[in-house]
Amino acid sequence: MTLKIRQFQSLLSLLFLTSIFSVSGCQLENASKVNSANTLPLNEVKYDSDSAPKNIIIFIGDGMGISTITAGRIFDGQSKGLKGEAHSLAFEDFDTLALIKTYNTNAQVPDSAGTATAILSGYKTNIGAVNVRPNESVTKMVVESCVLKNSPPTLTERAKTAGLSVGIISTARITHATPAAMYGHSVDRGWEADADLDPRAAKARCKGLASQLLEAPFDISLGGGREKFTPEQLIAWDVKPGHIYVKDAAGFRNAPKDKTLLGLFTPSHMSYEADRDNALEPSLAEMTGVAIDALTPRDTGYVLMVEAGRVDHAHHDTNAFRALTDMQALNEAVKIAKEKAGDDTLILVTADHSHVFTMGGYPVRGNPILGLVRNPDPEEGGAAKEYAKANDGKPYTTLGYHNGPNVRDANSPVLTDNSVQAADFRQQSAVGLSDETHGGEDVALFATGPSANRFSGVMEQNEIGEIIGELIAK
Ligand SMILES: [Zn+2]
Repeated sequence: MTLKIRQFQSLLSLLFLTSIFSVSGCQLENASKVNSANTLPLNEVKYDSDSAPKNIIIFIGDGMGISTITAGRIFDGQSKGLKGEAHSLAFEDFDTLALIKTYNTNAQVPDSAGTATAILSGYKTNIGAVNVRPNESVTKMVVESCVLKNSPPTLTERAKTAGLSVGIISTARITHATPAAMYGHSVDRGWEADADLDPRAAKARCKGLASQLLEAPFDISLGGGREKFTPEQLIAWDVKPGHIYVKDAAGFRNAPKDKTLLGLFTPSHMSYEADRDNALEPSLAEMTGVAIDALTPRDTGYVLMVEAGRVDHAHHDTNAFRALTDMQALNEAVKIAKEKAGDDTLILVTADHSHVFTMGGYPVRGNPILGLVRNPDPEEGGAAKEYAKANDGKPYTTLGYHNGPNVRDANSPVLTDNSVQAADFRQQSAVGLSDETHGGEDVALFATGPSANRFSGVMEQNEIGEIIGELIAK
């Protein structure tokens, strides 16, 4: 009943607005679409709340905070010649939406290791730790993880125990914090290769994350980071029955998809989407599609984690262009998942943490998202002829960072639209730091499919992993 009254009130207000502003053009048209879409509560979904999904796909945009999603939506629309502000990304029509509290046990602003542990394993831990329970003493964490081997099982292990297949995909090194949280334990996220281990950790029989991946029971694992494995390790893995190791796009495209597949396409991280050569490296969307096509016929059900790992790296460099193009690549991968995965698949799209990336000024609608701010012209409509000016009399960009390497001063050259829209431009920062940092505000989670309504409201990040754990155990 309450819903009907609310819908009626919305309809009335919409009719009222339409009658007053019927000549005001596309802005109102778009606003009314938004209003009518919002008459259904976000958590009223078409799936049975008790039904467990057969498959779960978890998309993680590393560092894809809400400002990145908004700017990415505008960027994606504008790059297709559409009106960016009213454009929609592939996950915006998902059934439910939640805000996620991302802090680590000992950090107000988190890192990817602690947050990926929360998302994939269901408990928060210290900043920098992958799948090791938190403790104030790093030594005690090493003892628990490496000597006693008491860390809770990984999502890969739990999924396998439940009879599911497992896929792990990242555009970062496959031993980087987020993908590592699918299969490994490490007190320090930096212990990627065995050679990276602190000598005391090596003495305590800790293993590098690369070694742990090769021992993990995954079905498909695709990403970068070949340099973290020794050639001997890769040969020993490859010769095992049913294993296929590929190191380039051609090998990947020709590989039989019913085998246990490891693809390591680059020595370190894979290329940014803006720089990627399709002949050498598959896109995130291609890797996602191949994984779904390969895992679906096994009929076991599957858990697939797909990370756009380099949104984060571009933000650390204050290079909004590459952050947004990598977010676009994630969006394309979500589209593929929506097309290929059946109605029995729960799809989650979230971020591990945000960045201090912001969007401001009062640019006119339709202003290029990477461009200099032009305010609306109050008399003639459209953009003002002059750029908006900062206190120093110089133009400024819509996008910027709270901290990072590019603090401008009185001697900095005047920005031009050509320079700020170039691929390599690094946006302005307020506080000078050599690397831009993560942001501490909540991130969004979008969910669709069976049990999507388990995700709504304001949630602790570890609740995501707890729910995933419950669903795979059903
Ligand atoms: Zn980062």
